[in-house]
Amino acid sequence: DNDISHVVEADRAHVWHHLIQHAPWTGTDPKADPRIIVEGRGMRVWDQKGREHIDAVSGGVWTVNVGYGRERIANAVRDQLIQLPYFAGSAGSIPGAMFSEKLIGKMPGMSRVYYTNSGSEANEKAFKMVRQIAHKRHGGKKHKILYRDRDYHGTTIACLSAGGQDERNAQYGPYTPGFVRVPHCLEYRAQWDLEGEEYGIAAANAIEEVILAEGPDTVGALCLEPVTAGGGVIVPPEGYWPRVQEICRKYDILLHIDEVVCGVGRTGTWFGYQHYGVEPDFVTMAKGVASGYAAIACCVTNERVFDLFKDDATDPMNYFRDISTFGGCTAGPAAALENMAIIEEENLLENTNAMGDYMLDQLRSLQDKHAVIGDVRGKGLFLGAELVADRATKEPAAEKMVQAVVGDCMANGVVIGATNRSLPGFNNTLCYSPALIATKDDIDQIVSATDAALTRVF
Ligand code: PLP
Repeated sequence: DNDISHVVEADRAHVWHHLIQHAPWTGTDPKADPRIIVEGRGMRVWDQKGREHIDAVSGGVWTVNVGYGRERIANAVRDQLIQLPYFAGSAGSIPGAMFSEKLIGKMPGMSRVYYTNSGSEANEKAFKMVRQIAHKRHGGKKHKILYRDRDYHGTTIACLSAGGQDERNAQYGPYTPGFVRVPHCLEYRAQWDLEGEEYGIAAANAIEEVILAEGPDTVGALCLEPVTAGGGVIVPPEGYWPRVQEICRKYDILLHIDEVVCGVGRTGTWFGYQHYGVEPDFVTMAKGVASGYAAIACCVTNERVFDLFKDDATDPMNYFRDISTFGGCTAGPAAALENMAIIEEENLLENTNAMGDYMLDQLRSLQDKHAVIGDVRGKGLFLGAELVADRATKEPAAEKMVQAVVGDCMANGVVIGATNRSLPGFNNTLCYSPALIATKDDIDQIVSATDAALTRVF
């Protein structure tokens, strides 16, 4: 019985939604229904009341990169499920092999794909590999993993131990030892009295200071988002990444880039790190890999890392003793193959660059009009507008005002996002990550809804 009022009641009674305070739905206000998304096509979704929304956040969390209603992905998954849905990943599969070849083709310098099923888990795989390398090669030293203030790497206890967003970490400790924080690189919230490239180099040098304080022989890896997502859409300044790479090489520290959000087109290149000419040792990815049509995540390594797990076949401990049950699902790579083919055939990277530039300009025009927008930043179709109560002091806008803007857009048929909602923080940032198929018309609608919301709320 899929009568929609029954669905709403079943949801209200039994589903524990992610990231939501449920109190309003369990009270007596009949208008306070849970939100149920029923259908999607292209850039748009419809809720249980039949209301149409333009989705400016690709499924809420920067995931549905190729948009909704892609029959060719559904058909490929259907055919694959009938042929073979699953076999444990100690064996190979046809879509697993074919997608790995296609993916590695987009990642010069990388060579191996380890399949798993969420961004958190992909990051855990990299952390485990780093730890195992520390045991095998460095007598247990070089086990520390550096992570950056404001970055997020996932929801598990180890990923939260590497989590730079205190508002997400509060109340879930104690955490795993061996993770060490380095400063963020957001120039708008400057920690050094420098600008541009000099600022970027200083922010990278701050990582070196942490390495020296900890002892380079204790540090195994550095894990960074190429452009920080949930921490406030932080695009690193010029000079930052080349210096980071230099520092990693200098101290023999493995570089792990978390592409869970940026990966597979979001910033206008296949991977975010490719804007910066960086050569990583690990690249993790999830959300956009199959645009949410199937659960798939990958921990990709270069051959240098892979070799360390096979260079001594006489040692029974000398391989990666890890399994992820659903890493053997074939629906993921089958969907991912089609997803990547769509991006290629429809030239969606080009569209992402063109539309991203257009949207950045449009948001900057909004900034001229609304004093509450302190900073606009972004790369490709991955953008943020940071709201401040006062431009001079950069005091953050109140959380309830930021939420009012998001709510106003929603009430007017546009879904946008906001970061850092739970604790007072420094970046209450409106987030935009429309599907890579976005047109100028779509962007105009998104920006004008934001314009109207800002006018009404402030
Ligand atoms: N890494 C980054 C940069 C993310 O933004 C996220 C999720 O938002 C994750 C990792 C965790 O991915 P998942 O939710 O699939 O575990």
